[in-house]
Amino acid sequence: MSQYVRPEILALQGYVPGEQPKDPRIIKLNTNENPYPPTEAIQGAIEEVLRRGLQRYPDPMAEAFRHRAGELLGFEPSWILCGNGSDDILTIATRTFVGSGQGVRLPYPSYILYNTLAAIQGAYAEEVFFEKDWSLPEQFAAAREGLRLVFLANPNSPSGTVVPPKVVAQWAERLPCPILVDEAYADFADENCLELVRHSEKVMVSRSLSKSYALAGLRFGFIVAQPHLIEQMAKVKDSYNCDALSIAVATAAIGDQNWLARTRAKIVATRRRLTEGMRSLGFDVVDSQANFTWNVHSHFSAKALYQGLKERGVLVRYMDYPGWGDGLRITVGTDDQIELCLAAMKEMVQGGVI
Ligand SMILES: *Cc1c(COP(=O)(O)O)cnc(C)c1O
Repeated sequence: MSQYVRPEILALQGYVPGEQPKDPRIIKLNTNENPYPPTEAIQGAIEEVLRRGLQRYPDPMAEAFRHRAGELLGFEPSWILCGNGSDDILTIATRTFVGSGQGVRLPYPSYILYNTLAAIQGAYAEEVFFEKDWSLPEQFAAAREGLRLVFLANPNSPSGTVVPPKVVAQWAERLPCPILVDEAYADFADENCLELVRHSEKVMVSRSLSKSYALAGLRFGFIVAQPHLIEQMAKVKDSYNCDALSIAVATAAIGDQNWLARTRAKIVATRRRLTEGMRSLGFDVVDSQANFTWNVHSHFSAKALYQGLKERGVLVRYMDYPGWGDGLRITVGTDDQIELCLAAMKEMVQGGVI
């Protein structure tokens, strides 16, 4: 059967998503979801869509969202393109800029989807390793034959660390191609690269409603880039890549900035408790600007700790990056969830259970 399949696809590993356990009692800290319910404003938006009915096709460009988000972020709608989650946006951008035999650059360790998207295009993916302090070498901005797109998750996953916008601006000047700054977690960070887009056609910023707006189940994301690039990317997307419900819900959600500020403040406060709690148990935890932390222990195996936590009803993400090392990525849940996670961890680390 497989003789019909393109060799690039046969060679793909396929993305292995974080576990989604059925048991609701499991404390789920493995996929960076928001522990709080989304704004109640989405209720009315859903009812309104149902009142109008779903028999018509949705707005192909999601104009309602483009206008609302544009007002809030200070951009004209022509600078915004919406997607079925920001993964859809990453796919659209890769298809728009990268042809077969050409290439993308990405940091390592980072979001694995970038490699997959390059492979699907039949393009090379050049991984540039983070330094031990989670900075990137200058080589990240070097020109290279065939280089067509650079990905930068900022804040990065799994570290939660940020490359300062000043540095990104300098890189963009040196690079021969656009840099797509994936800001899936930027609402939890102190700085972001949105302003750079205004001044450089080489900086594009993608955002997601999955994490900060607590809407991972909805699938909505968007990209901000200069209008002439948005126009080209719009040609590549599915005609109706966002459905009527998701457009209405996303528009209502981004409209409630008070909800975002309150939720962000809670998560940032809990992030501090998690970081300090893990450090007091002897973990090496880099300061995070996202809704998760990256935890490494010099004495205990990350895999054994992951298993031990799971047996105690706490699910975190065990990550193993060949050539870099392994560790635990822990999502910032509610205070209660993090307390239980820390207690289970303490039992293992200090109780000699592991
Ligand atoms: C979660 C995540 C995304 C994808 O977000 P969706 O909008 O749910 O598709 C993109 N980039 C990074 C780095 C992420 O962690």
